[in-house]
Amino acid sequence: MPKASAASGKKETRHVSLIVRWVSIVAMTIAVSFLVFSAVVYNTVKQEALSQQKDTSNEVVNILRKRLVGIDDELEITNVVQQLSPNTRRILKGGPALSQSENSNSSVFGDTVLSTVTNPDVTVAIYNLRNEIVFHNGDSAPKLVKFTSESKSVVKENKKGKSILYVYRKVRNRSTHKLTGYIVVRNQMTSYNRLISRTLSAMLWLSLLGVSLAILISYLVVRNVVKPINKMSKVAREVNDDPNSTARIPELHRNDELEELALSFNMMLDRMQKYIEQQKQFVSDVSHELRTPVAVIEGHLSMLKRWGKDDPQILEESIDASISEAERMKHLIQEMLDLTRAEQISVHYPNAIAEPMEVLTRVVGDMGMVHPDFKISLEVEDLDPDTKIQIYQGHLEQILIILIDNGIKYSTDRKEIAVSAGQSGQEMQIVVQDYGEGISDEDKKKIFNRFYRVDKARTREKGGNGLGLSIAQKLVESYHGTIDVESVLGQGSQFRIIFPVLSDEDVKRLQSREQQKQAEESGESSNPQSAES
Ligand code: ADP
Repeated sequence: MPKASAASGKKETRHVSLIVRWVSIVAMTIAVSFLVFSAVVYNTVKQEALSQQKDTSNEVVNILRKRLVGIDDELEITNVVQQLSPNTRRILKGGPALSQSENSNSSVFGDTVLSTVTNPDVTVAIYNLRNEIVFHNGDSAPKLVKFTSESKSVVKENKKGKSILYVYRKVRNRSTHKLTGYIVVRNQMTSYNRLISRTLSAMLWLSLLGVSLAILISYLVVRNVVKPINKMSKVAREVNDDPNSTARIPELHRNDELEELALSFNMMLDRMQKYIEQQKQFVSDVSHELRTPVAVIEGHLSMLKRWGKDDPQILEESIDASISEAERMKHLIQEMLDLTRAEQISVHYPNAIAEPMEVLTRVVGDMGMVHPDFKISLEVEDLDPDTKIQIYQGHLEQILIILIDNGIKYSTDRKEIAVSAGQSGQEMQIVVQDYGEGISDEDKKKIFNRFYRVDKARTREKGGNGLGLSIAQKLVESYHGTIDVESVLGQGSQFRIIFPVLSDEDVKRLQSREQQKQAEESGESSNPQSAES
């Protein structure tokens, strides 16, 4: 025993709490969902912002290219500056310089279109075919890299981890399509980098907040569920340690499945303890009942041992008494078996059907033959001979025999038993009336209890064990019937049993179920291997 409890104790410490399990599952699920969601949102925002930046850079490239495609020769400082700055061009052509009002946007080139180049993020450089810078704005000119297609754009990361967009474009003469140079535009993408870092940190914080909230809420929810479960297992452990414990789950006041479970659990414990109590009582009653015949037999045997061998009268008497006690024990054991079996009717005879008219006629006739000194009559009112009730025929016989036998056993002068039967609506009733000693109101409440006898000594004389009515009641109730008694002390008793009558549909249903059951049983017995498996 200590070994087993130590093992179970070990098992308990190893189990992972439902709270931990549930909370980690929820936290993981929320975290993964957030991660996926964040990744999708982040990527979309990134793509969108990057495409805006590319548009800006391409716009600058196109403005420059449009100006440069008119140059026939290779790009040089002289022809490029002239093309890009109208002011220079005007002066070179001998015209006046741009006025202050014309030059109002104060860009490097004084050109409204080119002023876009003055975006502080954007630096442009123009290279000739020998990779020499012929023009650039800003402090450091973006470097030219080799590229084969007409244009190329790449995003590179600087040392600080900021993304920088480079756009490279070949410049060809408008009419000859001859390559004259290259345009390189570098975009620092400040707003893009700011947006990306803000989005990232917002998502990080949001994820942390979401996961923490999910953990908190799921912890509260699960704790709410686990608390009553813990209470239940505590009560179960207490009852396990002491089967007589009165520990029960307190009212949960939650109106849900757990409340229902707790109620069923308490009901189960009540029932289990009642059964244990009944079982104990039964064992003690049985031992008590067996003690008397065993003591009687023992007494006779010791008497025989001492004097009986030489005294034929004692020998004869003792043997007779021992046989009669042994028979009583046999009878008692049979009755106890009947009582136990009566509790399992639904398992053994679930579809049995009997015709009460036929059974009544037979039993009353048989009892009349066995007790010729008694007038046992049968009176039937409104009971169709075809009326059927759900009961195993042998059990209906047993009930009737117990009641008629009691009537005979506890009779006085009037040796008469009147059995009557009738039907009203969906019920049929059988009444067994005797004119014997009767039962007091006090005893009427107890006669259906096991081993209860009104007058122990007299009943024993009559061969009663106090089990007959318990068996009859168990049988009747197992077949959904009722049994009761009316009695006047000194005048007689009337035992009434009522059974529901079967409709034609009920009969068909029970018959088909019985056929099915028999088919299954014969199938099982013809294939013992499958039954075993
Ligand atoms: P038993 O086998 O001892 O008769 P029962 O359970 O049949 O046991 O009956 C219990 C007790 O009820 C009997 O001991 C008897 O005192 C009383 N009793 C039963 N039937 C009758 C009856 N018809 N008239 C008077 N008393 C009865």
